[in-house]
Amino acid sequence: MHQMTLAEIARGLADKKFSSEELTKTLLARIAQLDPQLNSFITLTEDLALEQAKAADARRANGETGALLGAPIGHKDLFCTLGVRTSCGSKMLDNFKAPYDATVVSKLAAAGAVSLGKTNMDEFAMGSANESSYYGAVKNPWNLEHVPGGSSGGSAAAVAARLLPAATGTDTGGSIRQPAALTNLTGLKPTYGRVSRWGMIAYASSLDQGGPLARTAEDCAILLQGMAGFDPLDSTSIDEPVPDFSANLNTSLQGLRIGVPKEFFSEGLDPRIAELVHTSIKELEKLGAVIKPISLPNMQHAIPAYYVIAPAEASSNLSRFDGVRFGHRCEDPKDLTDLYKRSRAEGFGPEVQRRILVGAYALSAGYYDAYYLQAQKIRRLIKNDFMAAFNEVDIILGPTTPNPAWKIGAKNSDPVSAYLEDVYTITANLAGLPGLSMPAGFVDGLPVGVQLLAPYFQEGRLLNVAHQYQLNTDWHTRSPAGF
Ligand code: GLN
Repeated sequence: MHQMTLAEIARGLADKKFSSEELTKTLLARIAQLDPQLNSFITLTEDLALEQAKAADARRANGETGALLGAPIGHKDLFCTLGVRTSCGSKMLDNFKAPYDATVVSKLAAAGAVSLGKTNMDEFAMGSANESSYYGAVKNPWNLEHVPGGSSGGSAAAVAARLLPAATGTDTGGSIRQPAALTNLTGLKPTYGRVSRWGMIAYASSLDQGGPLARTAEDCAILLQGMAGFDPLDSTSIDEPVPDFSANLNTSLQGLRIGVPKEFFSEGLDPRIAELVHTSIKELEKLGAVIKPISLPNMQHAIPAYYVIAPAEASSNLSRFDGVRFGHRCEDPKDLTDLYKRSRAEGFGPEVQRRILVGAYALSAGYYDAYYLQAQKIRRLIKNDFMAAFNEVDIILGPTTPNPAWKIGAKNSDPVSAYLEDVYTITANLAGLPGLSMPAGFVDGLPVGVQLLAPYFQEGRLLNVAHQYQLNTDWHTRSPAGF
């Protein structure tokens, strides 16, 4: 049962082959048995899940239908869930029970999805390895000594290990696509503004975007359908009609123009990954796509610009955690300053503190023009590069990550080496574009992803290309031994 995709689950539930309650119980038992190896969940909500599953079964018995009605999922632990701990992977919020549901959570619940729990993540979504969580590192089910990627590493590990068919994630600089690549999943970061950020704890507000992690493009279409849409509660939500993401999965790729940026094959890319990317290009050519070499000339500035903008926004967003209103409060403060200082020093881990310091510095008077303003200018140049490229091509393709999953701890002493892993993913966030990662092979037994980028609001095109690729390849069907 645990091998089924969301699409198969929907068919099975519709055909009354099993109930949502049975499926939910099966997966909860599987989580209890296997998750101790992975640490992919922070909080399990068994009672809530069974309640939701029974309610979904009752709705189906009353004739209701829907691809998510009764489908088990998990939520990255930065989506607020009413009455349930929402920790953001931080000691700061270890005691925080959200007083309301994030829009993503309430929309998926209304569609009948059954939430089994909250998945582990890098603290405040800062990281690429899921090692900065207060609740401990998450293990990659493909090799337990390796990281699953981050920051949505818990969602990725749980789905890859077949503990869940799909889960939510968020992507500020790659945190859906990168863990998807490192665990053999399909993950989609939607256009900025497509999915509501209401109730999604902020890291860098101008970059953050929620999206689905699943095994197939078909399943990403189903989960995204439940998440997307205008939300008056989020001032950056865009009032754009949401298409039926599943409707165009079978469109032919004949004549599709795929741009391959030369900068995506720069120094630092594992040559074995480059080879797998070229193999995937050949596969898409066989399906009728036309390949065009292109250039994104400002890409080399993306990492420095991102690592100014994201920490700057984080330092501002995280100022709300002051020990007064919610979250961790130190014992016996001497005075207000002592309360602020010790609550924050105790509540935030080292990576979060590093980013707050970098961000506050970049925003300080005297340095603002030199760092933040420059970074914003680079951001515009990167967006312009994409706009020019999309005049020539329909989709852009390259590797998702320069390397496969690294060993837990391998990059701990050098944070910049981890930042460099984001080189191919962060440009889409800086420009606000949608991007998808799909399984494309293995290196040393570890999964490799290929990334597709599309113009604004063309998530459907990404899903279409990935689905056609998946109809003709079987990488996405492979599951890790032992799970
Ligand atoms: N690795 C990037 C960072 O640490 C991206 C994280 C994310 O997308 N949330 O900022």
